[in-house]
Amino acid sequence: MNNDIEISVRSPAAYALAGEALRLMQDHGVWPTPLNYELWLYVAGDPECPLAQEIQRLIAAGEVITEDVSESLASKFIARLKLNDEVRDAGLKLTRELASITEVIVDAQKAQKTYGETLEGAKRSMSAVETLSLRGLIDSLTEATNAVLTQHNQLENRLTESSREVNRLRKHLDQVRMEAMTDALTNLANRKSFDEALDAHCGSEDLSSLLTLAVIDIDHFKRFNDTWGHQTGDQVLRYVASVLARIGRPPRLAARYGGEEFGLLFPGESSATVERLLNEARTEIASRVLKRRSTNEDLGTVTISAGVAQREYGEDSFDLLDRADKALYMSKNNGRNRVTLADDVNAASSAA
Ligand code: GH3
Ligand code: MG
Ligand code: MG
Repeated sequence: MNNDIEISVRSPAAYALAGEALRLMQDHGVWPTPLNYELWLYVAGDPECPLAQEIQRLIAAGEVITEDVSESLASKFIARLKLNDEVRDAGLKLTRELASITEVIVDAQKAQKTYGETLEGAKRSMSAVETLSLRGLIDSLTEATNAVLTQHNQLENRLTESSREVNRLRKHLDQVRMEAMTDALTNLANRKSFDEALDAHCGSEDLSSLLTLAVIDIDHFKRFNDTWGHQTGDQVLRYVASVLARIGRPPRLAARYGGEEFGLLFPGESSATVERLLNEARTEIASRVLKRRSTNEDLGTVTISAGVAQREYGEDSFDLLDRADKALYMSKNNGRNRVTLADDVNAASSAA
């Protein structure tokens, strides 16, 4: 499938194919992001391919093609992931760079050896024939010294150049790594970073280290999307994310856990502090009247619900997340737009 499309996008049919991909995306309310464009190019190029069939199935089932859905379709159906390419290319360049540095060093060592041999020869000549004109000897020593100096200069230039290139590649890899850990829609950390940070904390030697975890979910977001459209929904996701990003600055961590769900980690902070912070964020979000950017149309308000759990002694990440999820569930059941502590879930279940 890949090869056919690769050929089609470089043929007279290319613009018709690109136009068809854009038209399909517009028809289905999908943003023409680079990733979506690639996916829909395959769909336009071969409407019977497995990817196209899966997209048709999702649409028929009423599923929205969110960024998450696109990401998972890409990782499932497009073997060549851009990110892997970048990491591989940077790795290859680094290997090449190191190989060429090694070559230069070997050359320098050879030159050094020849120089040593020349000096050795000169020493022998001097002691053997005192009267011999020193001129020839000095000439050959000067020549050998110059050759070594040139070699050293070349080595120095090459090393400076290489260290610049290695630094550039390192920065590029850092950026690629950063992108791999970031959610593209909201710019928050993604689920992978969140899970890694949570596991790192819960897996640490310190069984009693303080950590509070919060899970947050936008209320009735399906209804909002159905009323105002998925693209406006995306803008709301970005807005909610921006409020959470403010309270989730390092050493805290705010992440988009998936869909319209977020996760926050608060190392060294108690659930009482987190409850207060989240209630402030919740009130701020609920009191903001949202407007559609293009038309200034009034979209009403959205609210969020949250569940908060403070890590118990030695608790693993799975159990901690589970208790926060149960607290979130309780927030939803009790009418939404609220923050519930995991302790309150326990109290409610023991009272029942
Ligand atoms: P609840 O209060 O119980 O959480 O109701 P809900 O409608 O928010 O929850 P539900 O799980 O039924 O629906 C989640 C909706 O979130 C479905 C989908 O329309 C929306 N959603 C998920 N991801 C995205 C996204 O990336 N963009 C947009 N616009 N909507 C999304
Ligand atoms: Mg949800
Ligand atoms: Mg929801």
